Amino acid sequence: MSTGPTAPAPAPTPFATLNVIGHPLIQHKLTMLRDAGTPTKIFKELVDELAMLMAYEATKDLALQQVRVRTPLEETNGMKVRGKKLTLVPILRAGLGMVEGILRLVPSARVGHIGIYRDHSTLEPVDYYFKIPRDTEERDFFVLDPMLATGGSAVAAVTSLKRSGAQRIRFLCLVAAPDGVQRMERAHPDVQIYAAALDRQLNDHGYILPGLGDAGDRLFGTR
Ligand code: URA
Repeated sequence: MSTGPTAPAPAPTPFATLNVIGHPLIQHKLTMLRDAGTPTKIFKELVDELAMLMAYEATKDLALQQVRVRTPLEETNGMKVRGKKLTLVPILRAGLGMVEGILRLVPSARVGHIGIYRDHSTLEPVDYYFKIPRDTEERDFFVLDPMLATGGSAVAAVTSLKRSGAQRIRFLCLVAAPDGVQRMERAHPDVQIYAAALDRQLNDHGYILPGLGDAGDRLFGTR
C-alpha cells in the first residue's frame, strides 16, 4: 500500500441533513470532473461512476431480510435487500447523467422523471413533466441532480413527490452550495442529502463556486 497522504475526513458541516462523502475515489473523480479541460465523453463517464459510488454510500442503511440460500455444498442463511422498491428520479436534464451508474448497482430500481422550469411572472417552479411509478407510498425515492445550487428545483421536486404520496426521499448530488442545502433543509428536514462536496458559494448567476460549470451542458456537449 502507498504511504502517501490519504483523503482527509470531510470537514463537519453546519447542516444536519448533509452527508459529504469523502471516499478517495469519489474525491479523485470529482477533481477530474471539475477540470475545465475534461472532455464531454470523460465528463459523462465520471458522472456515471460518481453516481454509482455515491449510491453505494446512500444505500448503506437499506433494510435487509434474511433468506435461505443453497450453495453447491449446503443450505445456509443469507441476506437480501427487503423489497425491490427503489425509485430513481432524475431532475431533467442533468440528473439523467446519474441514472445508469446507479442502475448498475440496483438494476431492479424504477426510474421516474421530473422536469421543472421557473415561471417568469410568478417566479414559482412549475413541473412541465412529472412521471413516477404509481405505488409511491411503498417506495424509497432517490432524487438525482448533479448540482444543488439555489435549491429551487430540488425543493420543488421533493414537494411534488410528497404531494404524490412519497414518504421516504433522499437527494443525491455531486456538488452542493450552502444556499441550496439550507433551502432544502428548511423546506424538507426529513430529506437526507448526499454530496461529494459542499462548495463555497453561488455567483450572481446561480452557479456554484468553485463548482464545475453547467453540468447539463458539459454532460450533453451543448456548451
Ligand atoms: N447548475 C449547474 O449545472 N451548475 C451550477 O453551478 C449551478 C447549477
